[in-house]
Amino acid sequence: MKVVVLVGGVGGARFLLGVKAALGLPAVGPGPADAPHEVTAVVNVGDDIWLHGLRICPDLDTCMYTLAGGIDTERGWGRKDESWTVGAELAAYGADPDWFSLGDRDIATHLVRTRMLRAGYPLSQVTEALCHRWQPGVRLLPVTDDRVETHVVIDNPDAAIDGAPPQVAVHFQEWWVRHQAKPAAHRFASVGAEEARVLPEVRDALETADVVLVAPSNPVVSIGTLIGVPGMAQSLVATPARIVGLSPIVGGAPLRGMADACLTAIGVGTSAEAVGRHYGGRAEGGLLDGWLVHTGDGCEVPGAEVREVPLLMTDVEATAAMAHAAFELAGIDGV
Ligand code: GDP
Ligand code: CA
Repeated sequence: MKVVVLVGGVGGARFLLGVKAALGLPAVGPGPADAPHEVTAVVNVGDDIWLHGLRICPDLDTCMYTLAGGIDTERGWGRKDESWTVGAELAAYGADPDWFSLGDRDIATHLVRTRMLRAGYPLSQVTEALCHRWQPGVRLLPVTDDRVETHVVIDNPDAAIDGAPPQVAVHFQEWWVRHQAKPAAHRFASVGAEEARVLPEVRDALETADVVLVAPSNPVVSIGTLIGVPGMAQSLVATPARIVGLSPIVGGAPLRGMADACLTAIGVGTSAEAVGRHYGGRAEGGLLDGWLVHTGDGCEVPGAEVREVPLLMTDVEATAAMAHAAFELAGIDGV
C-alpha cells in the first residue's frame, strides 16, 4: 500500500510514527527492504529560514530526527544530547538574530544542507542525502524545491517607539519563536509561492497513492502553506486515493502550541468543526473525504464523513490507533 501523509513539524512527525507502526513497520528507523507498504511524507517548507548564513528547515528536520530516534522528545524539536556552545559564542558576538536556538549537533545538519544547496542541489536531493544518514523509514519530500516562506503581518511589538508603524511584516519564525505568537496576526503571506511549483515526485506520489492522510498539523502555517503551493491543490483534486484528515484541535484547543493564534488570523474558529469546514468536504469541492475528530468533538462537515475517535498522541500505540482509524475511514481494510 502506498500512503501519502501531508505534514508539518512536531504534530506531523509524531503522527508519522503512528502511521509506520499501524503498517507494521518499526516506528523509529528503517523498515525491511521488502516492506509491503511505503510511506511518503510531503513536508511543509514555509517555516524554512536563513539564519547566520545557514538554511534551516525546521519541519523537515523535526520529521527526520523524530523518525530516526535523533529528536529531543521533551522539547519536540532539535537533537537529543544537544549542546549549545556555538549559539553562546554567536550571542557573545551579538550576532543577530539571538532568539532562535541552534544546537551544536543540529548546526552540522544545517552546514551540510547549506553547502549542498550552494553547490546547486535542490532541497529534495539534499533531504534525501541527509536521510541516508538518518534512515527515517519514510520518504521525506519537501512539498517544493522552491523557496516558499511564510511571513505574517502583526501588530508592531515596537509600536510604542516614536514613528513606528502600527503593523509590521515578519518571518513566521520571528512571530512564533521570538514573540511567542503574542502580537495579534492579521494575515499570512507565502513569499515566493507564485513562482513555486509542487515537487514532481509529490505529484507522482499523489497520482499513485492508495490513501492520503492529512496529519493533525497546524492547519494554517503547516497544511495551509503546503496546499497553497501551486500545483498541489490540483494534485489533491486528481488523486484517486481517498483523503482523510485528523483534527489538531481537541476540545476546542490546540494541543502543544498556539495554532489558535493562526486560525484566528484567518478568521477560522478554534474547533474541530471549523477546521474541518475550512478544509472542506471533497464532495463539495474541498479537500477531505473523511475527517477524524476527537471523541466528543462530533460535528458535521458537508461533503465529508466525520468520525469520532481518541486523537491524543500520548504514545506510539495510541497514535497507531489513530492511523488505523484513518485507514478505516478511507475504506481500507485489513491493515
Ligand atoms: P509544528 O510545525 O512543529 O508546529 O507542528 P505541526 O504543524 O506538524 O503540528 C502542530 C499541531 O499539532 C498543533 O496545532 C497541535 O494542536 C497538534 N497536535 C500536537 N499534539 C497533538 C495530539 O496529541 N493530538 C492531536 N490531535 N493534535 C496534536
Ligand atoms: Ca512548523
